Amino acid sequence: MSRKVLMNGAYVEWDDATVHISTHALHYGTAVFEGIRAYYNDEKGQSFIFRLREHVARLYRNMRVLRLSIPLSAHEFVDAAVDVVRQNELKEDVYIRPIVYWGAGAVGLYPFGRANEYAIYVEPMGMYFADVNAGLETDGDKGLKTCVSSWARLSDNSLPPTGKFSGAYVNSVLAKVEAVQNGYDEALLLTKDGFVSEGSGENVFLVRNGTVLTPPVSEDILEGITRDAVITLCADHDYRVIERRISRSELYSADELFFTGTAGEVAPITSVDGISIGNGAVGRITHELKDAYFNAARGNDPHYSSWLTPVF
Ligand code: PMP
Repeated sequence: MSRKVLMNGAYVEWDDATVHISTHALHYGTAVFEGIRAYYNDEKGQSFIFRLREHVARLYRNMRVLRLSIPLSAHEFVDAAVDVVRQNELKEDVYIRPIVYWGAGAVGLYPFGRANEYAIYVEPMGMYFADVNAGLETDGDKGLKTCVSSWARLSDNSLPPTGKFSGAYVNSVLAKVEAVQNGYDEALLLTKDGFVSEGSGENVFLVRNGTVLTPPVSEDILEGITRDAVITLCADHDYRVIERRISRSELYSADELFFTGTAGEVAPITSVDGISIGNGAVGRITHELKDAYFNAARGNDPHYSSWLTPVF
């Protein structure tokens, strides 16, 4: 593979983009990362990175929590991410993965004294639920089969779910593996108090009598950037959005349910624990919001051009 990875300020070949076995982050999860999409618009011959500045702002917020700092300002990090896509000349939809982590010298929990390192790499990404999701035979367009996880979402006083801390993703992986091995496409996690939180890697929305509901940040969710975009799209399409606690039983009786996320995009859910949602087909409002999201993200709706960073 001839892809180039930016590591600590220098480009290295994909096969050489490695870390030492004693890397603190490998042992203790002391890294923060982001997942960002760039969509290639064939007609315009241009790639648009979706909400890059917001992703980098979230990365820098999380770095502060983990006491990480690197010799790049957020502004320079934005430019570096654009450069990684450009250098790799990928004229297709891609996923950009920045990561900042505590470096070599694993033993001992107090991380200071080790290097703060970073990397940005890029890889082609189609539809997460159809192509990437552990090789599942899922047609994300037709809707996902979900289950309520037996794992609770981790809580803010244990490991802040509002940020993308690497160690926190063990919670997501446990839920995902359980769901897939039980025949579902994705898990829905509840908070320790038993209210709806989010998917293993997506925020969740519910539609009821034409109103759109989603759990607030206080329900141990990641502050999703796609979630924020969809809240704006709802307002622009005259749908009222309410952020409030949602109980488990409201999932089963919803008219429509869908996930939002960078990888998952806007993904309809058509069943929870074997119970069909609405009439079992993708809902009208979900469909409308999904179309609006793709038009915005692919650079086909000038109203949302401030969300996009062109690459080429
Ligand atoms: N929740 C979790 C646990 C996630 O990993 C993600 C993906 N980053 C999301 C929600 C959705 O966030 P975003 O829209 O910013 O990708």
